Amino acid sequence: MRFRDLNLSEEMLSAIEEMGYTEPSPIQEKAIPVLMEGRDVIGRSNTGTGKTAAFGIPAVERMSRDGRGVEVLILCPTRELAMQACGEIRKFSKHMPWIKPAAVYGGASIEKQITELKRGANIIIGTPGRVMDHIGRKTLRLESLKEVILDEADEMLNMGFREDIEEILKNVPEERQTVLFSATMPPAILAITKKFQKDPVMVKIENKTGTVESIEQYYYDVPAGRKTDALSLLLMFWEPKLSMVFCNTKRMVDELAEELCARGFKAAALHGDMKQAQRTQVMGGFKGGRISILIATDVAARGIDVEGVDMVFNYDLPQDMEYYIHRIGRTGRAGKAGAAHTLISGRKQFYDLRDIMRFTKAEITKGELPSARDISEKRLDRFCAEIKSAAQGEVVSDAQRLLERLEADGISARDA
Ligand code: ADP
Ligand code: MG
Repeated sequence: MRFRDLNLSEEMLSAIEEMGYTEPSPIQEKAIPVLMEGRDVIGRSNTGTGKTAAFGIPAVERMSRDGRGVEVLILCPTRELAMQACGEIRKFSKHMPWIKPAAVYGGASIEKQITELKRGANIIIGTPGRVMDHIGRKTLRLESLKEVILDEADEMLNMGFREDIEEILKNVPEERQTVLFSATMPPAILAITKKFQKDPVMVKIENKTGTVESIEQYYYDVPAGRKTDALSLLLMFWEPKLSMVFCNTKRMVDELAEELCARGFKAAALHGDMKQAQRTQVMGGFKGGRISILIATDVAARGIDVEGVDMVFNYDLPQDMEYYIHRIGRTGRAGKAGAAHTLISGRKQFYDLRDIMRFTKAEITKGELPSARDISEKRLDRFCAEIKSAAQGEVVSDAQRLLERLEADGISARDA
């Protein structure tokens, strides 16, 4: 789904594009069409899923061009959230000179806010206490109001804003849209929706991180020219049985596959320019374990579901946030543990990664690349473990053959 499919104005579409949003998040996809119709909505989704745009875009779109007075009121629990939401609304309405957002919150000069309100602000974003204050002073008049939005409603109740909220809702025109977003639905929230909403549509997004909680996620900041070295170190240290490496271009996939093979890894490329027969062969090799590292583009890897992929590497940071979730979802399947390692280079990519963290609610920890010493220690550990189980007669392996040779030389590690 694209923003273009949501029936938005050209002004809005260019503003969204300038903000760098490429596609709507799930809550936006679901909530925007319903809100554009003017329906009341109860929205539930975790933080960082893009709720501000989910209610902000339709609110801005539905404003009248030649209206007078305040048409939208957005209530938020804290001044930071009010300022932040106001900033976003300002960006969405960048190409719409008829829209004048203003933030009103406590702890700041009320005179300045009054001036802004007098200048014809028509979307007000504020904390309940200060909004009440302005209503009492008649510096905020709500008779033209068309929509009220309660953002983080549960948090507002926790902060003791219940009476203020009820008072505000009682004093706005009957004919209005009432929208409520909340992470949880305690009885007090249900009471508010029952009292103040008309036939609300429930829009709910299941917690996405649920699918990736079993996946440990790390990132490594490496100089741009050293990514292949970094990847090699990680592969040598972890020795994953089956892993997938994602690159953003077919060319990079080919280059990296060639380079890793040259370094002795059992790697193969998978991308859209390969013939079908070739792709089938590669997939067969990967499933059968003859190929242990599959290097792929997002498109080629779509829908691939191979059991036992224990690690995913993002050689390139995905260009699209949703892809991050798709990529790392290749591991940690069916409740098994998995890990995802992401390589980034430089500040810009660090910011992009931070956006991914916010957007997906993923916890991506800064990792240290293993040193040559770490790698040989790890190898020794693994080999010791193999010898131990061979000594208990558990596996037929190189370790067992080694034991036999040592025994022939009179060195025994075998239990009685
Ligand atoms: P929430 O209110 O659900 O906690 P926010 O509205 O604060 O989430 O959004 C979290 C972050 O995600 C913000 O930095 C926002 O700019 C960004 N964001 C929201 N929607 C999108 C999108 N469709 N594409 C990219 N980034 C987005
Ligand atoms: Mg929010």
